[in-house]
Amino acid sequence: MDNLIICSHCGSDACYVQENSPEIKTYSCFGCGFTTNTLMREGEEFYKQQMEVLPELYKDVMFKDETERIWMPTTINLPQQGMVFYNGTSKENAKWSAVKAVKVKEEEKEKYPIKGKPGEFYEYRMDMSTIQSYEMKEFMEALSFIGVLPE
Ligand SMILES: [Zn+2]
Repeated sequence: MDNLIICSHCGSDACYVQENSPEIKTYSCFGCGFTTNTLMREGEEFYKQQMEVLPELYKDVMFKDETERIWMPTTINLPQQGMVFYNGTSKENAKWSAVKAVKVKEEEKEKYPIKGKPGEFYEYRMDMSTIQSYEMKEFMEALSFIGVLPE
């Protein structure tokens, strides 16, 4: 069963709960863009794996709620639409960055080969010139920018 609850990170009522299995729930807040799940706790293998792969900034802004779940920023990467990620040189100046994907022009396709697939090329690329910044609580606007939500 899916439903909306109050986010323990930002306090908005736009936290979407998804039950992945009877044991595992994922919490994704559209108010602040932070996410957590039942396995994001100190001592859990899943948490340890995240700590190995996440950027330093993501670790710096992690937030532990009253149930010991650890929240972190969401990363969205949709090859045909764009990406949204938390970005900054420190947690004090971090914001959402949104970048749009654009179609690769025929004459440029050689520049975007697909690894391991000789003769095949990417149809879309991330156009870094489109980058926009959004405050933490403007996560939805960042999603709209890449066309994930209606404008
Ligand atoms: Zn939130």
